[in-house]
Amino acid sequence: MRPALLNPLFADLTALTGVGPKSAALISKVSGPRIVDVMFTRPFGFIDRSHRPLLDQTVPGELATVTVTVDRHEPPPVKARPYRVICTDETGFLVLVFFRPHVDYLLDKLPVGGKVIVSGKIEDYNGSRQMTHPDHIVAEEEAANLPEFDSVYPLTHGLAQSTVQKAVRQSLKRLPALPEWIGPDWLDKNNWPSFEEAMTALHLPASKLDTSGSSKANERLAYDEFLSNQLALRLIRADRRRRNGRTSRIATDLRQKVRDALPYKLTGSQETVIAEIDNDMASDERMVRLVQGDVGSGKTLVAFFAALNTIASGRQAALMAPTEILARQHAESLEELCDVTGLTSLVLTGRDKGQEREAKLTGISKGYVDLVIGTHALFQESVEFADLGLAIVDEQHRFGVHQRMSLSSKGATTGAIADMLVMTATPIPRTLALAGYGDMDFSAITEKPPGRKPIETRTIPLQRTDEVQAAVRRAVEKGEQVYWVCPLVEESDVSDLTSAETRAATLKETLGEQVGLIHGKMAPTEKDHVMAEFAAGTRSVLVATTVIEVGVNVPNATVMVIEHAERFGLAQLHQLRGRVGRGSKAGVCLLLYKSPIGDVAKARLSMMRETNDGFRIAEEDLRLRGAGDLLGAAQSGLPRFRLGDPANQSDLLKAANDDAKMIVEQDPTLATERGQALRILLYLFGQDQSVRLLGAG
Ligand code: ADP
Ligand code: MG
Repeated sequence: MRPALLNPLFADLTALTGVGPKSAALISKVSGPRIVDVMFTRPFGFIDRSHRPLLDQTVPGELATVTVTVDRHEPPPVKARPYRVICTDETGFLVLVFFRPHVDYLLDKLPVGGKVIVSGKIEDYNGSRQMTHPDHIVAEEEAANLPEFDSVYPLTHGLAQSTVQKAVRQSLKRLPALPEWIGPDWLDKNNWPSFEEAMTALHLPASKLDTSGSSKANERLAYDEFLSNQLALRLIRADRRRRNGRTSRIATDLRQKVRDALPYKLTGSQETVIAEIDNDMASDERMVRLVQGDVGSGKTLVAFFAALNTIASGRQAALMAPTEILARQHAESLEELCDVTGLTSLVLTGRDKGQEREAKLTGISKGYVDLVIGTHALFQESVEFADLGLAIVDEQHRFGVHQRMSLSSKGATTGAIADMLVMTATPIPRTLALAGYGDMDFSAITEKPPGRKPIETRTIPLQRTDEVQAAVRRAVEKGEQVYWVCPLVEESDVSDLTSAETRAATLKETLGEQVGLIHGKMAPTEKDHVMAEFAAGTRSVLVATTVIEVGVNVPNATVMVIEHAERFGLAQLHQLRGRVGRGSKAGVCLLLYKSPIGDVAKARLSMMRETNDGFRIAEEDLRLRGAGDLLGAAQSGLPRFRLGDPANQSDLLKAANDDAKMIVEQDPTLATERGQALRILLYLFGQDQSVRLLGAG
């Protein structure tokens, strides 16, 4: 249970004065539904109110803060006109303009003869200065109440800056006195303020220094957020270790049959990762391991080797793919290996209906099936296993830690929790892996199978599309296959659909029915059908609007054309390029761009020309996009940080990682005084789930 101390922060936004249901809905769109969410929203800029000119020094269009004397009020002669208050200083006049004001409020704030400080945008009205609805009005003797800097927050249509500012200020007032959760030495070493001081400095900066991203306050808040993240992941990991996994037998005999049947030898990298997996599986701790390997590095086989251990131990294994096509492709590529090892497998997807589905489910629940290959969605529903020993999640960079936790409880029907192996082709820079996958052990397949020819990458302006079409024809005549990807601007955007249709039509003029088209608005069965035709070689060219299913393996495909490559992200381009050059023939990737292109797009394309190294590309991608974007992207599966920026503050993240590790070693139940404070930190940052594990201990 969240400590009552924090309740004021976790109340609904409407608990704030001046925030009705309408504003609350708008603020929650930008920040989140609770008061703490608005407090955790970083200002993206600041208005400097230190500029204090005389009236004749003010510049229309600019912000100014002026000290004036109220001369008179001029109520409007008719209701539709604005209410005006005339003010002066020794150099001129200023007219304050209000539409539909509360007159009592104005008489109180702007008493005739009173000296006031007003701040806002200066306008020119027929030669005189005016200011409409000043941002601030304070009596001169209360000048100290005027913030020198105004924080500026992200908005949405219909939401006023001042509404958010007021909400933030009120949220700060609700901040209770909190115990210090950062260790005293580390706090001293960094010379950081308290959480409360830091929060206040973030929103109500007192100096220019406070507005900089590298201020002490900013550092501390980033650290708090990183620490909550790292500690939560550590606790999840520790909990996993406490629960009983099961010892698996290493399936040396079955594996030998596979090795004998394969036309190639495993790479050193594959062997290393398999050894790491074996180490996990042979122990009685539950395995939760992330295997990262670039496209084509041979992850499927590694997964299969892991599955063999489970099956040799008399349990079942499940392999989950993100799409139906991929699930089916996995099944196909593993069919022969299942045969030689004598194990029973089946594919289960959303397509299975009625009796057939029932029969499959029965086979799984009775334990007749050793290996179940299917889509993720299926495993989130009610598939009952006789004894699930291993869940393999393939190409899964879309899962957050909480989803992983819920997934792994699937095997709980038998009392023991299934091992888990997550395979991803998206290279994740080390620091980010720490942020998103700190609850898992980590392996990397760094080597590709030998004999892979590097893919040649060329950038070509769109005006030369004709030449590219000719090159495509030549490849097709040689019996090779071609992907042609058109950009997906937005789900709802129809122009990209037209562009792919047009492209398919143009290609059909010379290539006829060899050209297939696949796009997001087709029914899944239709998509599968076209994809299957391409995989079988009955279609030579596949034009696609949607990004081609990640992981699809068509070894005969040698050419990847990406139209409007400037619109794609670097990681995406690299993934797409990995679709070709998977067989014995060299691959070519042609990046068609529309000029002129921006600097970032240009940097992306030249990076593509320069390297095939997924790790380098991931680092560069991160640099070009900034972590905010990468982390925010739903596909990354990484948490979204609100106060910290892991890309630019990786040293703080690393320190938080060390800190969390030490905390869990020394105070595993968070029982000490600092431990209690850390529990509050975890609740404050919404890591309730991990604190609950302590209770279950
Ligand atoms: P990914 O890591 O992208 O999932 P796959 O597992 O689909 O890669 O493997 C890509 C291709 O490489 C497959 O055709 C597979 O049979 C082949 N392959 C896997 N391991 C090796 C190896 N050690 N040597 C040669 N080819 C291999
Ligand atoms: Mg794969």
